[in-house]
Amino acid sequence: MASNEQATGHMRGALNKVRCDACPVLCQISAGRTGACDRWGNVDGVLTRIDPLVLTQHSTTSDNSVAGGELPLGGESRTFLTGVGSGTTYPDYKPAPFIVSTRHEGVDMVTVVTEGIFSYCSFKVKIDTDRYLGPEQANVRHGGEIVGHVTTAEYGSQMLSIGGVHHLTGGSKKEGRATCDLMAALGNKQAVELAIDGGAHVVVQSGRPPIVDGVPEARMRVGCGSATIGIFAQQWFGLVDEVVVVDDHITGVLSEHQAGKQLGVRPSGIEMRGRRSTPGRYFKVANPGVGWGGTDIADPLTIVEGFDPEVAWPGMRLLMVSTTGEHFAYYVLDAQLRPQPADLTLPLRAAVERIAENCEPALSTVLFVGGAGGSLRAGVTNSPVRLTQAIKAALVNVTCGGAPAYVWPGGGITVMVDVARMPDRSFGTVPTPAIVAPLEFTLKLADYAALGGHLDSVVPLEDVLARKALRAARSDSANPWPVAAGALLG
Ligand code: SF4
Repeated sequence: MASNEQATGHMRGALNKVRCDACPVLCQISAGRTGACDRWGNVDGVLTRIDPLVLTQHSTTSDNSVAGGELPLGGESRTFLTGVGSGTTYPDYKPAPFIVSTRHEGVDMVTVVTEGIFSYCSFKVKIDTDRYLGPEQANVRHGGEIVGHVTTAEYGSQMLSIGGVHHLTGGSKKEGRATCDLMAALGNKQAVELAIDGGAHVVVQSGRPPIVDGVPEARMRVGCGSATIGIFAQQWFGLVDEVVVVDDHITGVLSEHQAGKQLGVRPSGIEMRGRRSTPGRYFKVANPGVGWGGTDIADPLTIVEGFDPEVAWPGMRLLMVSTTGEHFAYYVLDAQLRPQPADLTLPLRAAVERIAENCEPALSTVLFVGGAGGSLRAGVTNSPVRLTQAIKAALVNVTCGGAPAYVWPGGGITVMVDVARMPDRSFGTVPTPAIVAPLEFTLKLADYAALGGHLDSVVPLEDVLARKALRAARSDSANPWPVAAGALLG
């Protein structure tokens, strides 16, 4: 069994059990068995962290695959010890599981490595789609349990907030368990299915296209309807008389839009549904949905009231298109000023394809947000507030599994990290319920001493490398090297 031994378990007499004190559950673990979270086990009477300790190695190649133990270990400046598989600091009076020393370009560095147990944590999920997922504040469910909510949409993306302390510990036991399992799956880059009250079913997975109501999303919109008009107005000029870019946020009308005005596009007399915001920009032309441009329409003409006979003319050419170019239709007005479907001309087809070309691939992005401002800090220093202060003074590089973490301003140590940049299988759970996630603090040895660090517990990285239970993961090639980044601070 690959394992990391830990000396803090307590033997329980003739029963040959060990007590795990790595979280408040305090499992009594029989010989050869694991505790409730499967992270710790009783190996020959010794409390043992079952999963191997994960190292990342700096690589400039694009191959980020984890090859268990296959990467050569060594070269201290190229090897970084992550918190994944390290064990926790709980119950906090003791130093972090690993406090390792390295040298970087002549500077003595220290990395404090632990797995944090987080109740205050969540995942912010950015879903690149205009399709309507559900009303803001609507509940998000998994297996029938409420695990999060729809939050404020961003430009071209729908946003979900998943997990959090209220779902983990503030509801029923079942809700807490379901939330915890779902959060671990999301963090570990697995595909999860979510159902939104009054909205869509969506499948999200870090770094993969979202699937909305069974349809994989391909493109992220090039911009809102108004922006699309602005970007492409010049290219459409002369090919068509009027363009309507259908968008749930702002539907754009070329001839009325400032871009069309400046190009001298002739007024078309088109009369739109919805609320006119400013010239050529319309709100609420339809209801939100999974149709054209994030609206509920399948027939674009439903958002056109008609044409002013004083202004429009027979033979007028009208293009209607969505913000991704996924939907488009072309019409020519007949003698009664009714739009009649027509085939797109070749140049106009190329112009529509140009919209699609300019869309980025639609992805799901999963960001972990966790509050490490509590007792975990005592594993780093005897005076925990000094760690917070040192981080705020930019003396400490904070990483999660070697991935750069953004530390929120204000009190505490609230970190945010893209799980795609972390090693695979970085997250675990404990049944309290709470999420287990890796954390590393890297700083100069001199700064560590100054903030009251546990200097007696510092060991050379080579000592840890000599351990057998290791898993090597290439660091995301886009991640800054944590030790080098730490050496640059302060
Ligand atoms: S749930 Fe896991 S971490 Fe908590 S006491 Fe049991 S074995 Fe240890």
